[in-house]
Amino acid sequence: MHTITIGNVEITALLDAPVLMNPPMFMPKHAEQFITEYRHLADERGLMPMSITCFLLRSAGKNILIDTGLGGRKRTGFPPGKLPDALHAAGVDPSEIDLIVNTHLHVDHVGWNTVDDDKGNRHIFFPKARWVIQQTEYDFWMKPAYLDEPGNAHLVECVQPVMDAGRVDLVTGEQPLDENLTFIPTPGHTPGHVAIGIYSNGARAIVIGDASHHPVQLDHPDWSPAFDTDPVLSAKTREKLFEDAIADGRTWIAGHWQHPGMGRIVRLDGKRVFQAL
Ligand SMILES: [Zn+2]
Repeated sequence: MHTITIGNVEITALLDAPVLMNPPMFMPKHAEQFITEYRHLADERGLMPMSITCFLLRSAGKNILIDTGLGGRKRTGFPPGKLPDALHAAGVDPSEIDLIVNTHLHVDHVGWNTVDDDKGNRHIFFPKARWVIQQTEYDFWMKPAYLDEPGNAHLVECVQPVMDAGRVDLVTGEQPLDENLTFIPTPGHTPGHVAIGIYSNGARAIVIGDASHHPVQLDHPDWSPAFDTDPVLSAKTREKLFEDAIADGRTWIAGHWQHPGMGRIVRLDGKRVFQAL
């Protein structure tokens, strides 16, 4: 179990699934250079290890979960998620989660919002939790045109039910979540994508959501994945987050970097380097 403390906030990395990324699918524009330059990071098939990690934050007396992974349903190209096992290992029951932040509404960030039982009935997996989602993100995705697309089944299965149950608070822009945590709009990957800034007792960290998917972006912030809705804006957002992290040494917490994805970004000999914790 990987747990760190930032001031009065305890952060535990919960692995939902390890994933292997195929550069030609993930970053088609830059795949050739990716494979040539970073061959040492790939396995024998040329696949790059990544993770789907959710983060449990214990802050101001509450259990807060940042993202809910893939969920238990079959999703093309992904293994089933294991977040419940990771929560169990951390000694936390789903009923003890007070608040959930979905950094954005992609399939690998909302999965365990709900589960389907053997009879096909759908249940909210966290019986007492409330959700906080950015209004911009909600408005962008939850339109009939998107909801009807088979590739967006997760919106109907995982987002609509918590909304219908009155469990969601929609919020706008940069604002505090509690005395230690702040939403930081970091658009580009999706229009309403947010990071979570942590500032407690003079210590800082940032949970970056999908503002960066892989540490090669430290060298190439402009290598935006195919599924960034605005690849130019996401590159700008990413560059700023990297430089802000170097400037004040805040702990970097990245759910798709190899688990547990927590460490520091430093500049060594003019190059940005990730030092994992
Ligand atoms: Zn993601």
